[in-house]
Amino acid sequence: MFETLSDRLTSVFSSLRAKGRLSDADIDATAREIRIALLEADVALPVVKDFVAHVKERARGAEVSQALNPAQQVVKIVNDELIAILGGETRRLRYAKNPPTVLMLAGLQGAGKTTLAGKLARWLREQGHVPLLVACDLQRPNAVQQLSVMAERAGAAVFAPEPGNGVGDPVEVARRSIEHATRQQHDVVIIDTAGRLGIDQELMRQAADIRDAVRPDEVLFVVDAMIGQDAVTTAQAFMDGVGFDGVVLTKLDGDARGGAALSVRHITGRPIMFASTGEKLEDFDAFHPDRMAGRILD
Ligand code: GDP
Repeated sequence: MFETLSDRLTSVFSSLRAKGRLSDADIDATAREIRIALLEADVALPVVKDFVAHVKERARGAEVSQALNPAQQVVKIVNDELIAILGGETRRLRYAKNPPTVLMLAGLQGAGKTTLAGKLARWLREQGHVPLLVACDLQRPNAVQQLSVMAERAGAAVFAPEPGNGVGDPVEVARRSIEHATRQQHDVVIIDTAGRLGIDQELMRQAADIRDAVRPDEVLFVVDAMIGQDAVTTAQAFMDGVGFDGVVLTKLDGDARGGAALSVRHITGRPIMFASTGEKLEDFDAFHPDRMAGRILD
């Protein structure tokens, strides 16, 4: 992930190394190179434009520094701007004052929602929580079974459709899962919803109905980082159709250029909260903008 972008930026910086001072022409040339690097990494155009404008403005205004040479100054500016577009501060999960905290997962089919439910459950259990996984994906054959397997691996309980639990109706399953969680003293409920292959109004409405029925503390939009520019259009469609509080990037281990990771926060105004980096439950962590920027510039 980000290899192409990293390589490109490294070569931009190394071409500045010999300079004693940056002229306006140097800054313009550097800005052009950074623009190309970002576009090649599949970053959305409005994000690229803002990014480059900020870098240019700050590079022009940079004081001659004893401590940092021009190349180091540009590296610092690019690092700061990367952190900024990735969201600045780490955004932590907000827990409800009165448990259970309800997390709802939404996203395209194959984005990694069911896997994420297991990862979140494991992560929460490590922190002393007692999560309940709720199977509201009743569209995809095997989804309920897959969630049960995830739950078992994570050592968490699962709530699935069966007589008394609202068979066949995801909204009813979701509603009853909250009562069940309260009775059984689960302090976090993770609701897995049906994905859609493309933007599907009917399924989008179903997700909105589940949201209205359970009023989640956090709706997490799950997006495959490998889908490039499509991540932006998908995010916008989910923002309009369901709304969400935070983003989870999955498949960051894939051979992606990183455009989704670098665009989605800026485009949706919602923070990236978690990142998945593989198929195993432990390939998962909270998302830290500064560490990600560090990896890109490493
Ligand atoms: P859902 O349809 O959104 O519930 O997606 P799934 O959880 O079923 O995931 C779809 C596929 O992606 C599965 O084969 C997962 O093992 C795989 N997957 C999920 N997250 C990751 C990840 O972070 N990295 C990789 N390489 N594969 C993942």
